[in-house]
Amino acid sequence: MNLMPFAQDTYAVMGNPISHSLSPAIHKIFAQQTGEKLDYQAIKVPLEGLESAINDFQKEGGKGLNITLPFKQQAFALMSQSSERATVAQAVNTITLQSDGRLIGDNTDGIGLIRDIQRQQESLHDKRILLLGAGGAIRGILGPLLAEKPVLVLIANRTESSADYLASAFKRQGNLHSSSLNAISGQQFDLIINGTSSGLTDEPLALRERLLAPEAWCYDLAYGGQLTAFLRWGQQQGARKCVNGLGMLVEQAAEAFYIWRGIRPETSPVLKLLQTR
Ligand code: NDP
Repeated sequence: MNLMPFAQDTYAVMGNPISHSLSPAIHKIFAQQTGEKLDYQAIKVPLEGLESAINDFQKEGGKGLNITLPFKQQAFALMSQSSERATVAQAVNTITLQSDGRLIGDNTDGIGLIRDIQRQQESLHDKRILLLGAGGAIRGILGPLLAEKPVLVLIANRTESSADYLASAFKRQGNLHSSSLNAISGQQFDLIINGTSSGLTDEPLALRERLLAPEAWCYDLAYGGQLTAFLRWGQQQGARKCVNGLGMLVEQAAEAFYIWRGIRPETSPVLKLLQTR
């Protein structure tokens, strides 16, 4: 294949599916806000095609990539070097493509979630937290979340063995347990975070009743115009508030922009703009 070099510094998000991604819009607003000259694209990658897609993008002179579902763990395995937070997560969502061909991996999901939770003046300290899912996003947020010292974290996943694996891999960092999705019962949580990709198809999760403690709230990493099936469930169960992952998306993008360009964009105006779209 004949690849044409990009005319300006070019970044992209790679995933499958990708048409829902707001990352190109967010990075273009960051570029305008900071006066940085760059382009940012969305690239749909075949499920077996991550490595060749990254190689092609690099040959065209691409400067950096965000990686989204379902590729974050695969991406980690392709890196020449990874940051500590990506190594702990064994998942990469931000890649810097160096001119010598080296791929430097990082993971900004965890810091993105924590900054969004802090913006909402919520604390995780001493809280009982239920995490739904055990994919790339949950891997990215587990370390930063445990660093906030919750009293207990239960990871529940459709494929129970993946939840068991994460609970064991992170057990030194906190009071962690694992379960299958439909076996959680007899416990109540102060915060339930949905990190499954069921939101993409708006499929409801098979969750039991009475999982929410008084004053509990729900956070869905998925984002979009409408309440997700999980957040609708949270409302029905009496959650104090139900929040989607738009704030996290903007925060993790800001951290990636900082890694690539050395400038930290302001996130609040971008979030406000996206919320009114
Ligand atoms: P992965 O593909 O790595 O993992 C998907 C997870 O969802 C797995 O645990 C999988 O379970 C579970 N799952 C998928 N479908 C279903 C279903 N129908 N019922 C129950 N569980 C299901 O995806 P990511 O971890 O990268 O992303 C997960 C979600 O988080 C996505 O919606 C993504 O958009 C969102 N996200 C948002 C971010 C933000 O900034 N707001 C950042 C990162 C992710 P199993 O192991 O059994 O297959």
